[in-house]
Amino acid sequence: MSLNGFTLPPMENEPVLGYLPGSPERKSLQDELKRQSQEIVEIPCIINGEEVWTDNIVEQVMPHRHAHVIARVHLAGEKEIRNAIEASLHAHQSWSSLPWQERASIFIKAADLLAGERRAEVNASTMLNQSKTCHQAEIDSACELIDFWRLNPHFAQQIYQNIQPPISPEGIQNSCEGRALEGFIFAVTPFNFTSIAGNLPSAPALMGNTAVWKPSRNSYLSNYKIMQLMMDAGLPAGVINFVPARASEISDICMSHPMLAGIHFTGSTGVFDHIWTQVGKNLPNLRSYPRIVGETGGKDFIVAHPDCREKALLTAMLRGAFEFQGQKCSAASRCYIPASVWERIKQPYIDEVAQVKMGDPADFSNLVSAVIDEKAFNNITGYIERARKSDDAEIITGGNYDSTVGWFIEPTTIVVKDPQYESIKEEIFGPVLTVYVYNDEEFEDVLKLCDETSPYSLTGSIFANQEADIETATKALRYSSGNYYINDKPTGAVVGQQPFGGARGSGTNDKAGSPINLMRWVSVRTVKRNFNPPEDWRYGFLKPDE
Ligand code: NAD
Repeated sequence: MSLNGFTLPPMENEPVLGYLPGSPERKSLQDELKRQSQEIVEIPCIINGEEVWTDNIVEQVMPHRHAHVIARVHLAGEKEIRNAIEASLHAHQSWSSLPWQERASIFIKAADLLAGERRAEVNASTMLNQSKTCHQAEIDSACELIDFWRLNPHFAQQIYQNIQPPISPEGIQNSCEGRALEGFIFAVTPFNFTSIAGNLPSAPALMGNTAVWKPSRNSYLSNYKIMQLMMDAGLPAGVINFVPARASEISDICMSHPMLAGIHFTGSTGVFDHIWTQVGKNLPNLRSYPRIVGETGGKDFIVAHPDCREKALLTAMLRGAFEFQGQKCSAASRCYIPASVWERIKQPYIDEVAQVKMGDPADFSNLVSAVIDEKAFNNITGYIERARKSDDAEIITGGNYDSTVGWFIEPTTIVVKDPQYESIKEEIFGPVLTVYVYNDEEFEDVLKLCDETSPYSLTGSIFANQEADIETATKALRYSSGNYYINDKPTGAVVGQQPFGGARGSGTNDKAGSPINLMRWVSVRTVKRNFNPPEDWRYGFLKPDE
């Protein structure tokens, strides 16, 4: 489509580059990794388009080499946080009045920069900051964010077209105006996806809103690069304010501000529960009921039927559980496997996991690297130690860990006898997969068990060959996940292909990267225009009988 010179990009996903030996992308990424490893970036807050240096500094390190500092971050205090809110409220006036195509063209430009000259820089920063392999960085900080920025404008167009009322009788003109929300959006982002960090403030901004963006303390460098990229693409001052700050301080100020219009959150369920409760308490001070969108934790499952493709199952387990050290909300973390299948795949599975190399992501032969920080390391290894001591659990792969250089934990598999054992119920958010082996004839019972075991409902997979078995599982697991996979791993949702999000304890299921999410950032005003307004208040029925 074309309107005043504006053209939407093709409705296509950004191709994933392979980084094969000898490829140009591998060379430029390696050069960039070297360059960024030799510098310490000074990161300011960005408020109203200006760099703000506070001298309240925290250091950012590489998780796989935690003595190596990659950035020094200037944290905002109360004054800067309040200035950021004021800047976004001020920018709202002009930004929300722009035609949506003008707003979209800025994010499309950002996508083009990221797809081209800035790709290696952003991917390298994600690899160093969050310990991702080149492939994990490529599908996150390059492809997924490019897809958000190129495809969201299509969804915005659908929304603005489809909200128009279908009926305008003669003499009346009805219309709907898709306004931005009144106030500012508080975007609170997780460490694990650079793309989500970029999307949470920019999706509402596309719909005319302005945002205060609080990045995670574990992804400041990559997130700062995204902020710079959006500004270089022409984002006006104040539309998105980049505000590294202590979580409790910024959230107290933002969530009690009368002009809080919405919260766009991704992170753990506990933090989201806290946010929701705070908003409830502050409600009397707020001008509007804020829109609260949150994508939270998961305890994502794989259920295998006795008749299934066993090699595909093994691959899904290994990739689904251990890529990016299991730190995906969608990571496979519990597996229900029939005894006959387990008898055949147990040893091959152990052998394959033993092949996985762990180490620095700058060495491209590693599939697994370090977990994000010491707190995560202690939490995950606590599960491993308790399993080691438990009579209900047996560790069959990994189980070792070492934090001397980086926060490294081997890909660990725990087989449990008790289907309610802690590691099969709770989100661990690390490279730990728990397996429960069931009797072949108890497939339907195990589906019920899977549905009822954890409070989450994010992603899940079923491996089965026969249509009837697939149908049985699909029905039994209807509310067990927001994203459901048949004969595939439960990770790797693609924007425009599998809109992403979960329900129950996994969030509000507003499906990132789809019109469903964007609609949350629109507040519709309905306009009725009457060309012949009545001039006599007396209805006909009031007339006396003749
Ligand atoms: P986290 O909950 O620790 O932090 C998320 C964000 O919330 C960070 O910016 C953090 O500083 C902030 N925060 C912490 N305390 C806060 C408070 N009191 N008030 C306001 N903000 C606060 O999560 P994380 O470790 O960054 O990310 C991992 C979690 O995110 C996992 O639970 C994972 O499942 C979830 N996640 C979910 C999805 C999804 O789409 N469902 C995607 C990615 C990650």
